[in-house]
Amino acid sequence: MNKNRRSFLKAAGLSVFALSGGLAAVPGATQARTAPGRYDRGDNAPHAKRWAMVMYTRKFTGPEDYEPLIVACHKEHNVPNIPGAQNIKWFWLDSYEHTFPDDMNAYLNEKIRAASYPLLCNHCTNPPCVRVCPTQATYKTEDGIVAMDYHRCIGCRFCMAGCPYGARSFNFIDPRKFLPAATPNPVFPTRMIGVVEKCTFCSERLAAGKIPACVEASKGRILFGDLEDASSNVRLALASNFSIRRKPSLGTQPGVYYLI
Ligand code: SF4
Ligand code: SF4
Repeated sequence: MNKNRRSFLKAAGLSVFALSGGLAAVPGATQARTAPGRYDRGDNAPHAKRWAMVMYTRKFTGPEDYEPLIVACHKEHNVPNIPGAQNIKWFWLDSYEHTFPDDMNAYLNEKIRAASYPLLCNHCTNPPCVRVCPTQATYKTEDGIVAMDYHRCIGCRFCMAGCPYGARSFNFIDPRKFLPAATPNPVFPTRMIGVVEKCTFCSERLAAGKIPACVEASKGRILFGDLEDASSNVRLALASNFSIRRKPSLGTQPGVYYLI
């Protein structure tokens, strides 16, 4: 048996351990009784038929402008800082070529081509990741969020293979060893080895009446609202600007829009 396969089976075995209740034995594990995306909503919690995000990327001047957003997201969700290839990504940056491969052409404006673009899970209307998950560890909520239940994840990584946007990360090594020295956010569960994770559209913050952490940190350069409401902030922005989405030809219907 080769090393990769052994590692995968070991990780999968650990995930089955978690599924059978083993998470309680892991020091520092937060016991999430309610899965992300299925939080009880407070009286002030906003509601939507279909949450969506609109990014004014042209209002960001460079990668350093995005740094506070990444920090806010990763701090809020206890995202480990693992250097190298095993890095866990919830909100990250990439080139135009990798972000919008369908829209590349030899004569593209140089400023647009050279810029960095913010990436996260698109919370697709037709998410292939949900279709291929054998345990329903990933699922769509009634307001369009593609959520994760870490306790149900068996680490098969079918969802990662199914996602055409690279929006999911797998914990090949214990993520808790790579949390910042400061106390992790006690209200969001830390993950364990063998589990897949990704952006949640901050469903736990929405349930508490707050906007997503990256939206808050963007100071108005990212909008978040109800795509089904013609008078919402996102619909008004889309009505008055030219927007693009990632890989539209795949039919996944991303819920993240870019104003370039
Ligand atoms: S971006 Fe990927 S992980 Fe997110 S909903 Fe779409 S297919 Fe699933
Ligand atoms: S919506 Fe929330 S989880 Fe998703 S990238 Fe923004 S801060 Fe992170």
